[in-house]
Amino acid sequence: MKAAKFDLQIAATLAAAGDELVARGFDSKVVAGSQSLGPMLNLRLVRPTQLIDISGLSELRGVTTDHQTIRIGAGVTHAEIEDGIYPALLNHPWKKVAANIAYRSVRNRGTIGGSLAHADPAADWVLAATAMNADIDIVSVDPNDGALAIRTAPMQKFMIAAYTTVLEPHDIIHSISLPLSSAHAKWGYYKFCRKVGEFAHASCAVYINDVDRCANIAIGALDGPPKLLPELASKIIDSGWSAMPGSLQNEAVVKAVSAAIPERDPIDQKMYTTAVIRALNKAFNSGAVDD
Ligand SMILES: Cc1cc2nc3c(=O)[nH]c(=O)nc-3n(C[C@H](O)[C@H](O)[C@H](O)COP(=O)(O)OP(=O)(O)OC[C@H]3O[C@@H](n4cnc5c(N)ncnc54)[C@H](O)[C@@H]3O)c2cc1C
Repeated sequence: MKAAKFDLQIAATLAAAGDELVARGFDSKVVAGSQSLGPMLNLRLVRPTQLIDISGLSELRGVTTDHQTIRIGAGVTHAEIEDGIYPALLNHPWKKVAANIAYRSVRNRGTIGGSLAHADPAADWVLAATAMNADIDIVSVDPNDGALAIRTAPMQKFMIAAYTTVLEPHDIIHSISLPLSSAHAKWGYYKFCRKVGEFAHASCAVYINDVDRCANIAIGALDGPPKLLPELASKIIDSGWSAMPGSLQNEAVVKAVSAAIPERDPIDQKMYTTAVIRALNKAFNSGAVDD
C-alpha cells in the first residue's frame, strides 16, 4: 500500500518545527529517519496531512559531555553510534547495541530519538536507555505563544505502554542523557532474534555501577515498557554474580523472571531466563556469550 497524501516541510530550526506542530495540531507529525514512520504511513496506520522533517536540524545532532553526563542528540543515527564517530561514545557499550539494530540501511537513517518516540516494546534503545537510567530531554512548544521549554523525563517513566510515551503532540525529543561511564560500571546486553536484523523476541540489559550502588536488570520485548528485576539486582549487588554457584545463579534468575512475567508460558520464561543469564555473564565477563 502507499501512504495517503501529505505535505512535507523541511524544518530549518527546532523553533520552526515547533511552530508547524502547533499550527497543524494532530494533523502534523515530525519525521526523523522514517524507518518506523515510513512503514506506518504505507500501511495507513497513521495519516498525518503534514510531515515536518527534523533530520537536518543541527540542534538535534551531536554528542556532548559534561563531568557526569553524556548527551546524545535525538537526531543521531544508529550508524553514527555504531561507527564511534563521536569521541564520547568511542569505547561505549552502546556502540555494540547500535551495531545489532536491524540492517545497515536502517541504521544509516534511523535515529535514537525516533526509536524512543516510536516506543516499540522490542526496540533496542528503549531497553538500553531504561537499564542505563537515561533521561530524555524534551522540547515543548507553548501553543499560545510558541515559546520553547525544556523538560526532562526519566526513561523509566517515559514509555507508558506499547507505542505510547509521555510525549505530547507539541513535544520533540531533544536529546538523551546517560551517566558518564566509569571504570566500575558493568554493562551486559543480550537479545534473541530468529534472524539477523530482526527485532528481539526476548532481551535483557544489565547496568551495574558498584560505586553509586546503581543496579538495573531490565527485560524487554514484552507487551509494554521493559520490566526491571530489582530484587535480583540487589542480590547481585550484595553477593556478586560471578561468585555465585551456577545452580544458585539459575535459581535466582528463574525466580526473578517468573515474578516479573508470570503470565508468560514456560518456553517464554525459559527464553527470558537465558537472556538474563547471558546478559549478566557478559556484564561480569564470565563465560560471556558474544553474539
Ligand atoms: C526492517 C527494520 C528492522 C528494524 N529492526 C529494529 C531492531 O532490531 N531494533 C530496533 O530497535 N529497531 C529496529 N527498527 C526500527 C529502527 O530502529 C528505526 O530507526 C526507529 O524505530 C525509528 O527511528 P526513526 O528516526 O526512523 O524515526 P521515524 O520513523 O522518523 O519516527 C518514528 C516516530 O517517532 C517520532 N519522532 C521521530 N523523531 C522524534 C523526535 N526527535 N521527537 C519526537 N518524536 C519523534 C515520529 O513522529 C514518529 O512517530 C527496524 C526498522 C526496520 C524498518
